[in-house]
Amino acid sequence: MYDRETRERALTLVAQGRSLNSVSKQTGIPRYAIRSWQTRIEPISRTTHCPRCEDVPRSPEPAKQYAYLLGLYLGDGCLSRQPRRGGYALRIACADAWPGLIGACRQAVKDVRPMNSVCIIQREGCVMVTSYSHHWLCLFPQHGKGKKHDRHIALEPWQQRIVDEHPWEFIRGLIHSDGCRITNWTTRMIGGERKRYEYPRYFFTNMSADILRLYTDTLDKVGVEWKPARQSRRAQNISVAKRSSVALMDQHIGPKY
Ligand SMILES: [Zn+2]
Repeated sequence: MYDRETRERALTLVAQGRSLNSVSKQTGIPRYAIRSWQTRIEPISRTTHCPRCEDVPRSPEPAKQYAYLLGLYLGDGCLSRQPRRGGYALRIACADAWPGLIGACRQAVKDVRPMNSVCIIQREGCVMVTSYSHHWLCLFPQHGKGKKHDRHIALEPWQQRIVDEHPWEFIRGLIHSDGCRITNWTTRMIGGERKRYEYPRYFFTNMSADILRLYTDTLDKVGVEWKPARQSRRAQNISVAKRSSVALMDQHIGPKY
């Protein structure tokens, strides 16, 4: 990789009438590289389309997949700067226990950044779905120093519009990363007979009050009732337990897979 200054210097020499051969000899840059810059001075990873980098920034597409990926990112994702290769790595932790979700995460990354490759890096008990791009920061401006729960997390207006348009995708991303559907049960005596009753519930656990609010605000919009559940020292739990609300969640999200 050559930095922009180097690329421009080489092209300036060519523009002055020098041959590719002589510029290559003088700069030590292969001819084919200089030739490729003549049509495209930016390296591929930079020029490849980024809707946020256009003169009039647009929202990423497909919006539905972006909404899901945003939920995953806020739940279990992080960006890290890549000082050597440039740009950022997006990493989303997915538990080994849910291979279907690993596939869904990988697909969402591919759909949102089709020009960047996605790889799966095995860690203990989970995989990191990883993708490198110069534009992850454009797509996830929530990135900042330190942990998410130590800083203010707010959606940009264009992100909020996407979430408003695809609330269930956003909720699904959050549940798939930091949530779960569990079934509690109890027994009751009915007419002298002990009967078993099951109570499915959805939980969402996160340490960031801001992310919890994004979750509950979106639940409010789709008409799902929720309440704060048990609270540990650090993380807070949001529970969806009311039957009609669980039914709505089941219809749009369902158990992990
Ligand atoms: Zn960009």
